[in-house]
Amino acid sequence: MKTTGGTPVVFGKERIMNLHLTDNITVLKGIGDKTAALFRRMGVETVEDLLRFYPRDYDRIEKVSRIEDLKDNSRAVVRGTICSGVSERKTGRLVISFSQAADETGKLQLSFFNMPYIRKTLKKGALYYLRGKVSRRGNGFTMEQPVLLSPAEYERQQGRLLPVYPLTTGLNQKAVRKALQQAIEAVKKESGILPEILPPWLREKERLCGIAEALSGIHFPQGQEELVSAKKRLAFEEFLIFLLLVKKMKDSAEAVPNAYPMIETADTRRFLEGLPFRLTEDQARVWQEISGDMTGSYTMNRLVQGDVGSGKTVLAALSLLMAAANGYQGAMMAPTEVLAQQHAQTLREYTVRYHLPFRPVLLTGSMTAKEKREAYERIRTGDSNLIIGTHALIQEKVVYHNLALVITDEQHRFGVRQREVFSQKSRGAADNESGKALRMPHVMVMSATPIPRTLAVILYGDLHVSVIKQLPTGRQSIKNCVVGTDWRSRAWKFMEKEISAGRQVFVVCPMIEPSEESELENVEEYTEKLRAVLPAALRIEMLHGKMKPAEKNRLMHAFGEGMIDILVSTTVIEVGVNIPNATVMLIENAERFGLAQLHQLRGRVGRGEHQSYCIFINGSESDLAKERLEVLNRSNDGFHIAEQDLKLRGPGDMFGVRQSGILNFRIADIYQDADMLMLADGAAARITADAGWEEREEYRELSLYLQRSVRNNIDFPGI
Ligand code: ADP
Ligand code: MG
Repeated sequence: MKTTGGTPVVFGKERIMNLHLTDNITVLKGIGDKTAALFRRMGVETVEDLLRFYPRDYDRIEKVSRIEDLKDNSRAVVRGTICSGVSERKTGRLVISFSQAADETGKLQLSFFNMPYIRKTLKKGALYYLRGKVSRRGNGFTMEQPVLLSPAEYERQQGRLLPVYPLTTGLNQKAVRKALQQAIEAVKKESGILPEILPPWLREKERLCGIAEALSGIHFPQGQEELVSAKKRLAFEEFLIFLLLVKKMKDSAEAVPNAYPMIETADTRRFLEGLPFRLTEDQARVWQEISGDMTGSYTMNRLVQGDVGSGKTVLAALSLLMAAANGYQGAMMAPTEVLAQQHAQTLREYTVRYHLPFRPVLLTGSMTAKEKREAYERIRTGDSNLIIGTHALIQEKVVYHNLALVITDEQHRFGVRQREVFSQKSRGAADNESGKALRMPHVMVMSATPIPRTLAVILYGDLHVSVIKQLPTGRQSIKNCVVGTDWRSRAWKFMEKEISAGRQVFVVCPMIEPSEESELENVEEYTEKLRAVLPAALRIEMLHGKMKPAEKNRLMHAFGEGMIDILVSTTVIEVGVNIPNATVMLIENAERFGLAQLHQLRGRVGRGEHQSYCIFINGSESDLAKERLEVLNRSNDGFHIAEQDLKLRGPGDMFGVRQSGILNFRIADIYQDADMLMLADGAAARITADAGWEEREEYRELSLYLQRSVRNNIDFPGI
């Protein structure tokens, strides 16, 4: 049984089909071109993509609580009878409807935001199972946005773990669940569809369940145990694939002769002398390492790890300057448009102020077709020697004149494919015709995520690593506090005070918009709340990932110019943004973020001359959450925090805290699953010990899967 599919599958009784992993998902019932387009936006095109589209969380309905036993700030189900009519209040754009429910132990206030129709739905005297987040108000409790369930509906949901998927506008949970149910059903019925990629010896050794069991367990777990076992297997597998790819990169990158040799010129020295500060010792050492690489015999392949605010940008500028002064092009790639814009601005300022030989051009996805064409032309002819942009830099249409250096900021990784793409693009026009061998540009990856040494050795086995530990002197360290939600109004007062002193404020919420599935704070409602509570003169705006890039740029620019006082956003502002006048960072539901990520967020303040503050609001009662946040309270040292993150892993919050943004694995987490990473490293070493492993029968499916991963995902998790 070696084929990937091709076996007839019966769905219910109505349909017989041949399902292949590589089929487009439109072969599934209920998925037409329109839905398929929505899935494509989430990176799902084939049946295999769908099976690998893992839930971001699980929803489990709570047991019924008596009203007198409710706890502040918790999610609960109350079995209550509606005991009052519905009243309404308008504040700003918000309509709030109020009602009341009662059980034999007490009364509960209910409030609904922007749901005016609830007036008709809620019948006095009707019995409901009310589900939602409750918080203490005065001497009673209020449930916000309760979901109303009939007794029968509540019964049905008992004990089930329902998968919750990431969504895009137009796609809902039901549609994703339905599609996955079909795919999983097919896989379970016909084992030939889904080949096992892990060899038996490995599954036995690490006690990993089979692939069909794992996928069914991750999407529709029968219980916690099955979920844990599924996650274990999939995380292991993800690490293994990643490590096999790292190994490949290492093999292909080792000791590549320097195709773009450089010499030291006076430009870098003049730039250094002109700067209003001196490089820290760490910066100076790393600059020596970088220039040593580029003037040396082999192509640079370097990771520069430096804590937030350690001053990596100036090192990037120096490196790009060295390339330009040697007559080459250099490119700087950022993960977001906002960051690309910011780098472009900084580098343009440097160019003018220090008379640098840069001819910069910006290239981002949101530029018009005409603007892009002009940029392509300047890049192709060599008219520009400094190219700053987003992923648009590796798109097909871009041809470089003589690209000698590529820097990625806040990327953590640079994939095999990306490196290949750049080397194809960077052969000069003349070489193109004569068909000379590819010339690999120097690569420098900058990351602000301090990764503990033990893990860095494994994750970055293919790169030389430079570390900047020192922060520039003269910075005031950020003052932290970790508080409960009851402290919120005081935090708002404090923000108001800082704003009246001329400063600016960031607020971060984990969610974009309200949803029935989550009680976490969301940007939309939070912005409304702040606008309602704080003086009308304050300029409060929101920013999140669903907005158009142009709109995001406009807002970030306005914030940078001091035209906005409070920016309420999701973690989109997490990376790299430099707004020295912002002095307060308020993070809601801080317990939902990884420590390293929180440290990144905190790094958005404390970048200027003013004392800065970070307020972590802990929306959970758990001791582990408290202990984790305490680490941030006590320390501003990213490396120390990363080490602690490793130590304080709790098996309980399997999906609670994920470090999005850091080596974006789909399911594995380098901190929480660190032990799995070590095991996978051992396995990868054992497999690759045999140079011809990819041809061996027992690794056939594994190597096929590896090839598919490289081919399909330029942005393979973390790479
Ligand atoms: P990050 O490493 O987080 O990317 P940046 O490169 O944005 O940090 O630097 C943060 C700020 O520190 C910038 O305003 C930069 O000009 C400044 N800076 C960098 N190096 C030094 C230094 N050696 N001394 C003083 N300030 C510095
Ligand atoms: Mg930076």
